Amino acid sequence: DLSLDVEQVRRDFPILARQVHGKPLVYLDNAATSQTPRQVIETLDHYYRHYNANIHRGLHTLADEATAAYEQAREIVRGFTGAADRREIVFTRGTTEAINLVVNSWGRNNLKPGDEVLISQLEHHSNIVPWQLLAEQVGFRIRMIPVDERGALDMAAYRSLFNERTRLVAVNHISNAFGTINPVKEMAAIAHDHGALILIDGAQAIPHEPVDVQAIDADFYAFSGHKVYGPTGVGALYGKAALLEAMPPWQGGGEMIKTVSFDAGTTYADIPHKFEAGTPPIANVIAMGRALEWVADIGIARIGAWEQQLLAHANERLAEVDGLRILGTAPRKAGVISFVVDGAHAQDIGLLIDQLGVAVRTGNHCAQPLLHHFGVDATCRASFAAYNTREEVDTFVEALQRVVAMVR
Ligand code: PMP
Repeated sequence: DLSLDVEQVRRDFPILARQVHGKPLVYLDNAATSQTPRQVIETLDHYYRHYNANIHRGLHTLADEATAAYEQAREIVRGFTGAADRREIVFTRGTTEAINLVVNSWGRNNLKPGDEVLISQLEHHSNIVPWQLLAEQVGFRIRMIPVDERGALDMAAYRSLFNERTRLVAVNHISNAFGTINPVKEMAAIAHDHGALILIDGAQAIPHEPVDVQAIDADFYAFSGHKVYGPTGVGALYGKAALLEAMPPWQGGGEMIKTVSFDAGTTYADIPHKFEAGTPPIANVIAMGRALEWVADIGIARIGAWEQQLLAHANERLAEVDGLRILGTAPRKAGVISFVVDGAHAQDIGLLIDQLGVAVRTGNHCAQPLLHHFGVDATCRASFAAYNTREEVDTFVEALQRVVAMVR
């Protein structure tokens, strides 16, 4: 039974009671960041009220409690992502930092001039730019995996891009701009057949569908807490233990060393601590763990099924809007709808619809190469979460009709 009691879910989110410009908030910008349930807010509050302390170093009670909760969050992330070993979970500031870790540690030490990295046309800038920065220094080549007219990856083209210089594939699991769900398991198998690794940006998948990094056979998998009902400033990188063990640290500082000496050199901590230099966002890590527990209590499959219902309903209702065109019509899509409307610029729609209490995203969604390919510089994007309702979808479409009439 995958039915979801959305009214019960909504009661966990204090922010959903607020008004915007005198109208009830209809929050449809979940792909940018999701709202936070009270259980997560209470976890942050409880941490600062009762056991705020630095981890892994104190011998006092508070430090012990904070360390235990922090390491417990690692175990929660391990379970949620299907990783075999909690040492394979590195806490980061988010998806962006997780990708930068792979680029600057694995990439800097394994990529040589003439090597090739395959990056999909669907990528968020955070899975393009770090690779470009390193490529400028090292001289490896970046090749693009193209999309078809529906915004799905062209798998024949993907296969044909491989050669003996291909070292790594960087691809998102779900596109934030279009909602396309990529066949990452199949892509991983193809990459491995060619001796290449695969880094999967899971920022948009972790909140919406069950993920099992072992079943996918991902080498690296990155996500952010704030898109899965957790706080900002925290995320995680999954990496296969053997890969992480062979990789050098990329940031130096406290907590990531075994011994430091001016004469005898410095030795590094074991994984995952080798990659967690400095004081991490302790409270946010613990609260992200609580967010994943909140998701697991409801059931990630149940949330995904609910969002698919909202997507189907929105697709149906949006067909009523004259001149509206949806970008990204891949057969497998998450609850994301990117659209443009004839005679109404995305920016104007976004500003005016906010006046009616509806929050959608407008712009390039940090995916300029993709939007450029589709001949637009901006779209409006509505994206769903567990707490959205069919009535909100109706409110959104009716507000859109009014706005479009005004702009035209
Ligand atoms: N990748 C994807 C697919 C995303 O949607 C986002 C956030 N929009 C990111 C990466 C970057 O995540 P963060 O800003 O949390 O590091």
